[in-house]
Amino acid sequence: MSAVAASREQAPEPAPAETLLEVRDLVMHFKVSRGPFGRSGLVRAVDGVSFSLRRGETLGLVGESGCGKTTTGRCVLQLETPTSGAVSFEGRNLVGMVPAELRKVRNRIQVIFQDPYSSLNPRMTVGQIIAEPIAVHGLERDPRARHERVRDLLVRVGLSPQHALRYPHELSGGQRQRVGVARALAMQPSLIICDEPVSALDVSIQAQIINLLAELQSDFGLSYLFVAHDLAVVRHISDRIAVMYLGKIVEIAGRRDLYEAPAHPYTRALLSAVPIPDPALEATRERQVLSGEVPSPLNPPTGCVFHPRCPMAIERCKREVPALKALGAGHEAACHLV
Ligand code: SF4
Repeated sequence: MSAVAASREQAPEPAPAETLLEVRDLVMHFKVSRGPFGRSGLVRAVDGVSFSLRRGETLGLVGESGCGKTTTGRCVLQLETPTSGAVSFEGRNLVGMVPAELRKVRNRIQVIFQDPYSSLNPRMTVGQIIAEPIAVHGLERDPRARHERVRDLLVRVGLSPQHALRYPHELSGGQRQRVGVARALAMQPSLIICDEPVSALDVSIQAQIINLLAELQSDFGLSYLFVAHDLAVVRHISDRIAVMYLGKIVEIAGRRDLYEAPAHPYTRALLSAVPIPDPALEATRERQVLSGEVPSPLNPPTGCVFHPRCPMAIERCKREVPALKALGAGHEAACHLV
């Protein structure tokens, strides 16, 4: 682990700060006319999700593919109009906002994508890619000053000013993701949605990008909603973590509580898949392997949606939906056994 990640890991829990983003009872259902077996129905991609994010904080949003984490991020960005619920950013609900107003607010919410290659225009140089949003949104009208700003941003993300003349295909995966970060920073955002930003990178490069994001956060006071399918990735950057399963948050807690005292059987199963750096401990620990796949959100199980895969399920789990229960300061889990 790098020095930045390590110091973050040892840092005390953050002091409460102003709430930047508040998501309340978010529901995103998609109607499908033909399902995989020819059925029509309602896909419950996000099913009543609530969380908040403070200024300067990182919330990790974790779960297997199909759990609704990316759709939640898209609803925050208003790339999807939620079926119901509220997404308040800087105290204003973005849902139903008129497009001109939404565009202005949206400038302060940026996104870093999983695959920087497909999100960068291959026909533009790196300099043009970073300068484009600055010019389009009128953040710097003087071309020379804009050029300077691009150079500064490249240096800030660990590239050299000469990279401005290169094309995306001439860069490595890690360098391309640095360009993605510079492009997001160009808009001077207060919130960045990091949508699996390191999943496509080698492990050594992953650590570099995570450390870069941590440094930028402390320099610019950024907030991150960090979407990932792996609890190992979010550990060193998140202040709090929300675990999602089939459209619902099943556990949310501060980093220390989640990793040291996980309450939900699903969180414990995800954690047991995270490798321990000590080979002796790794060899002796008990693994909890989850059987089966995440069920279809077109036809979710009754009661607790995790019951078909839960090693601790009891009869009641098939009938009753467990509500999120408070277990301690900022720690909640949805399970009948907690
Ligand atoms: Fe498992 Fe039941 Fe708890 Fe759901 S409510 S996680 S099925 S024990």
